[in-house]
Formats: sequence, C-alpha cells, structure tokens
Amino acid sequence: MWMLNRLYESGLWMDKEELMMADQHDTPMLDELENGPWPSFITGIKNLRDQHEKPGINAVANDLLGQLEHSYETRKGYWKGGTVSVFGYGGGIIPRFSEVGDEFPASREFHTLRVQPPAGNHYTTDALRKLADSWEKYGSGLVTFHGQTGNIMFIGADTKNTQPFFDEINEDGWDLGGAGPCVRTAMSCMGAARCEMSCANEHKIHRILINNFTDDVHRPALPYKFKFKVSGCPNDCQNSIERSDFAVIGTWRDDMKIDQDEAKAYIKEKGRKHVIDNIISRCPTHCISLQDDDTFEVDNRNCVRCMHCLNVVPKALHPGDDKGVTILIGGKRTLKIGDQMGTVVVPFMKLDTEEDYEKIVELSEEIIDFWAENGLEHERTGEMIERIGLVNFLEGIGVEPDPNMVSSPRHVSYVRMDGWDEEARKWFLNNAGDNLAAAS
Ligand code: SF4
Ligand code: SF4
Repeated sequence: MWMLNRLYESGLWMDKEELMMADQHDTPMLDELENGPWPSFITGIKNLRDQHEKPGINAVANDLLGQLEHSYETRKGYWKGGTVSVFGYGGGIIPRFSEVGDEFPASREFHTLRVQPPAGNHYTTDALRKLADSWEKYGSGLVTFHGQTGNIMFIGADTKNTQPFFDEINEDGWDLGGAGPCVRTAMSCMGAARCEMSCANEHKIHRILINNFTDDVHRPALPYKFKFKVSGCPNDCQNSIERSDFAVIGTWRDDMKIDQDEAKAYIKEKGRKHVIDNIISRCPTHCISLQDDDTFEVDNRNCVRCMHCLNVVPKALHPGDDKGVTILIGGKRTLKIGDQMGTVVVPFMKLDTEEDYEKIVELSEEIIDFWAENGLEHERTGEMIERIGLVNFLEGIGVEPDPNMVSSPRHVSYVRMDGWDEEARKWFLNNAGDNLAAAS
C-alpha cells in the first residue's frame, strides 16, 4: 500500500479506487467494535482509510488498523517510546514508534502532539478549519477534542513532519501543551461567556496562571505533573477538585439572590409537592425552605453552595454579588495513595484588581517551588501533603491554618474536650440512681 501510494502521489498510478482496495488489512476483531448504538473510533479510522481524498492518509489509517488488529490477535501492544520534540521544547510530544513497522510501514512512526486549547474551549470555526487543514497536510488526520489532559490531541505524525506542523500552527498562535513531569495544560469551564452561574473571570485566571509557567510547561523539570483547572462556580464543570493540583472554583460569600416572582411562577407551574420533593428536601443542610406565600427563604449561613437549588430553578435563584474564588490544592487521580480531592487552602479570595491576580500567581509560585523542593520523584502535590502533613505544607507556603481547611467541616464538632471526663463523672454521679436502675 505504501509503495502504491508513492506511485499514486507521483502520478504513475491513476486509479484511486484500485489503490484503495489494494492490500487492505482484514480487521474482523476490530469490526466487532462497530456493533452497538454508540459511535466507534474504528468507524472513524475506517472513514479516513476509505473516504479521505489524500492517499497518504488512507495508507496511514489502513496500516494503523492493521497494527491494531494484530495487537488484538496477539494481545500485545507494539508501540514503544523515544524522544521527539521541536526546537526549544523538551515536552509536548508523545513519541510512538512501531515495533512491527516493517509489516505496517505507513504508521511506523505515530507521534501525538499535545496542543493547548483556548481558555474555556472557545474556538472560531475558522481556527478549527485551519488546524484541521494543517493536520491533514502533515499528519494522519486523526485528532481528539479534547483528550483527558485537556489538550487537543493530534494523533499520528511521523518525526519529519512534527516540526513543520508545529511551525505552521504556531504561526497562528497555538502552543504545545505539557507532557511529562511539568506544569500541564490548564483548563477552564466555558464560564461567564455563556453561563449564568459564573462567579469569576475563569479565562483570565486560566491565562494568567498558565502563561506565568510557560517555561515549566515546555521543559519538564518538576517531581511530576502539576495541573491548574478553573471552574466558575461550585458546579465545577472542569472537575477541578478531583482532577487538578491547583483548583480555582468561583463562589460567593454574601446572600444568594432570589427573584421571588420567578420563584412563585415556578412553584405555581410545578406545584408545592414537586418543589418540596425536588428542591427543599434535597438541600444537604436543610437551609432552603418554602414559605406559605410560595416564596423561597434561604438560611445563607448554612448554605454550603452545593448548587442544587440554583441548578433546578436558575431563573429564581442566583449566586450573590460578593463573588470570589476558593482555592484547593492536591486533587488527583489514583497513582500512589488513591484518588484525592483537593484540600481548601484559600477559603475565599477576591479577584477584582490586578493586585488580586498577582496574589494568586504568587501563591501558585510558592506552592510549585515548595513542591519542587520537597516532593519525591513521581509524587503529586496531594501525595506530598499527605506525607508531610497539611500543617507543614501550610507553613512551607506561608499560609495561616483556617477552620475552613478541614476536609469534612460538617463532621467536625469543634467541641472542646478539656475537663470533659470530669464533667461526665459529675453528671454520672448526679444521676447515679437513674443510671444504676437503667443498667440493672
Ligand atoms: Fe457554569 Fe459553573 Fe459550569 Fe463554569 S463551572 S460552566 S460557571 S456551571
Ligand atoms: Fe441548599 Fe445547596 Fe441551595 Fe445552598 S445551594 S440552599 S446548600 S440546595
């Protein structure tokens, strides 16, 4: 197929149909993955093999399918790593060389380029078309928006094409993301541009934080990966609390805003029973109530910003006006000590002025510096905090402890225990008769 493609591309082979049928790998096991109602990545690769107008891409897709089928047959993976990068960068490309490249030559080198998406994933269609055109010129045509890392994943370039592809998209302002032990590509929710729950300027936070660490994205030199994620409200659409080392989540500290006319209209439409069953009784702290005149009342001091009621009646219930962010450190998936949620390190921070933004950058620098010095190899920030203790971590980054930092505030009573045994003994003696009667 590879040779035939060369002939086709040089104009010596004129019949593309014939070329497509030549040497097409059988894929009986992969074909099974196309069964069922869900979209199949195999169908996508087959479309590239059978329908793309560029014979080079047909050939790569064909050999990729061939190698994958071979892997399924033999139950072995045949990709090995290596070192591939572009000038001035130490990361951003995941090298993949095939160990069975002689049998599947068109996909012999199949590197992935990680490219940082715009904040909030706001693209123009023109930008997307240009990216796709560049990738079809230099790569396999396979691309994912977005991989688990948050990057645009351009999957399947050979070594010689990585530099020209990067140069072309870099001209349009795109940059490689992180790969390896470095600051990784940041992510932010779509935020204020399209969402009424937004309590922060997610995209500004995202850009300011990640731009400050551009060197640490491009040149892996940290104990392990470090991720920033920004969500505009406690709905946390970016899963920042469990998927990032530095989670920034928008919130408010004054009272929730209630449009009682909208509340009445909703209650009239749905009925009181529906509202009680679906909103009032589902509030985790029982702090929202339904009044006799079909209005809502919220005990704001006990609202834990779970967002449930606001999500159900977004026309009536809104975040307050005194907005800011909460910062949580150390969230991550599995690795050494299992999944961890981030720990609150800054309960509330205003982000209105340029000085406020400088403060959040300074905090991130403190944390990364401390972790770079004290983290073990392959140890995420959350694991380091677990190992050295939150108190030592806070001292290291110069942040005062705060009761809001306890991981389960509703389970901690804050009852002073000094003198407790003495009081218990007195109570027992005062009630001795009753207690002994009950015991017998
Ligand atoms: Fe909207 Fe909040 Fe989700 Fe951001 S996290 S998109 S502000 S609901
Ligand atoms: Fe209750 Fe959650 Fe609504 Fe707060 S946001 S009032 S905790 S349901």
